[in-house]
Amino acid sequence: MSIKRLPPELVNQIAAGEVVERPANVVKELVENALDAGARRIDVTSEGGGRDLISVRDDGRGIPPEQLPLALAAHATSKIASLEDLESVGTMGFRGEALASIASVSRLSLRSRVRGAEEAWVIRSEDGGVGEPEPTSGPEGTLLEIRSLFHNTPARRKFLKTDATEHARISELIQTIAMAHPACGFSLRLGTRTVVELPAVDDPRRRVVEVLGRELTDELLTVDFEGGGVTIWGLAGTPSIAGPTSKRQRIFVNGRPIQDRAIQHALREAYRGLVEPGRHPTVVLFLEIDPRLVDVNVHPAKTEIRFRDGGAIHQAVRRSLKATLAEHDLVPSLELGGGDRGSGSPGGRGPVRPFSATAHGSTASYESIREGLEMPAHPAPFLGTSAASTTSDHESKTELMPRIGADVRILRVHAKYLFIEDEQGVLVIDQHALHERMMFEQLKARIDSGPLEVQQFLVPDMIEVDAASIEAMETLAPMLDRIGFDAGVIGPRTVAIRGVPSFLLSRNVEPGPFLRDVLAFGAEQGSVDDVEPLLSEVLDMMACKAAVKAGDRLNDHELAELIARREEIERISNCPHGRPTSLRISIAELDRKFGRS
Ligand code: ADP
Ligand code: MG
Repeated sequence: MSIKRLPPELVNQIAAGEVVERPANVVKELVENALDAGARRIDVTSEGGGRDLISVRDDGRGIPPEQLPLALAAHATSKIASLEDLESVGTMGFRGEALASIASVSRLSLRSRVRGAEEAWVIRSEDGGVGEPEPTSGPEGTLLEIRSLFHNTPARRKFLKTDATEHARISELIQTIAMAHPACGFSLRLGTRTVVELPAVDDPRRRVVEVLGRELTDELLTVDFEGGGVTIWGLAGTPSIAGPTSKRQRIFVNGRPIQDRAIQHALREAYRGLVEPGRHPTVVLFLEIDPRLVDVNVHPAKTEIRFRDGGAIHQAVRRSLKATLAEHDLVPSLELGGGDRGSGSPGGRGPVRPFSATAHGSTASYESIREGLEMPAHPAPFLGTSAASTTSDHESKTELMPRIGADVRILRVHAKYLFIEDEQGVLVIDQHALHERMMFEQLKARIDSGPLEVQQFLVPDMIEVDAASIEAMETLAPMLDRIGFDAGVIGPRTVAIRGVPSFLLSRNVEPGPFLRDVLAFGAEQGSVDDVEPLLSEVLDMMACKAAVKAGDRLNDHELAELIARREEIERISNCPHGRPTSLRISIAELDRKFGRS
């Protein structure tokens, strides 16, 4: 075939393939146009999954009649005129191809009345063939109606899912956009059902809560952050409202909803240890950045963007969330199951708490708690008093006293759990989980300032590993350096360990088996471009190995240190794996159980 120029309709249809993959993309383009036109109210309707009809009506500034044909022409836009404009674009649209693309794969009608004008005008197009504007009647603003979407592109039509699925996407999209534009009212009707009705509000928080669900209000912490050239505002859910999917995670950059792997990673990092693997925290963040520092023109549907300095954004997001989470007491409270005494409110279960603490609660009946509180042979060890039930040979007990306060009593239960009193009631601590968390945070803080200390061996220690682990050695080498391993491959299956992290030795962890675990883990991950997440994982492994085990008897010194540090360590309420380190039985709950409320 000889080279020929493609006819313009075909060009538009090809472009349509990128811009409008499915009905929800059409809705997105039309709603963004309405927002760019300064709309204060946008009403969307969809029928037949968007195949039969999509209509978007706004009360924005409108399009003058003589410009109606241009609005439907490819590469025609009122939003940018030069490259400088493109680099600092502040509107949602700028490519000038959405309406032309949509028109090429549908029957379209565009009616508009400029604010303050007498008359409305309408222009129609079918499969890209555009008619003449004609006068008509109608309110100020613009109404777009798209019928028979993709009727002339059967391949595209085939890819569409059921009406319900396409409608769900449209609904999701409207709610997402609405979050970023509280001053605009939105409604969405799917078939005969109105599924979204969001009046304009002045408080951005209210809009987000409205969309996420009002019942979550108490579980949404406000994020407010400035640094690294970014301003971040948003809401971060407590771990208790993490969900099975990432549906309740939304990131906006300069008002634009985006998907960004680095930001998603930052989010996971911030919640690391707070939500169990496989759960997704609820987070809505609005990032404001100088538009010149982001490139929005990398994706036809503009759902991905490029940052000039991605590292700084990653760090800002992580820090903003960590700071917010650290400010709040996230210790889940334990509700004691069984019937309440007295007339206590029967349904008074309070909000759902993390990690099925309530589920634990239902088994932790009054009886089982009492049984659990088996008294030790000696009276409850009272920290700072004399030798009561101690295996300690440390002499520093008195030194530690002031840090804990002379009045803190600690009850050890089965060398597994520690009970201590605090202002709100009784804290029940899992000693292994807390210790592990503490070590993890210490390691993490420590590793930021350089590699961990190495204890060199006089004679290298040889370990045999499998082929995959040998391969993993290469990927992991920089990380092994950082965690204090000096090791190298010296045979097809042999690794020589010349030095090990002093930390592991001091905690009596055998370095050989530990390194073997790390290599096996690395082999499982395969090749990765970013070892940062792996590093966290390996620090977890280290902390877990080094931490006191359930059943280990802590001496008074260690016990005191653990309790004293508890307050200092960030987000201490969960171990790195996301299990809780502590649960609280509140005085209020006890009062209720004893019929005192
Ligand atoms: P872009 O939004 O990238 O400029 P579009 O094809 O989406 O390109 O729209 C083309 C032009 O039509 C816009 O630049 C704008 O001037 C005009 N337009 C589209 N929709 C509306 C609307 N709802 N209200 C006012 N003007 C609109
Ligand atoms: Mg547009």
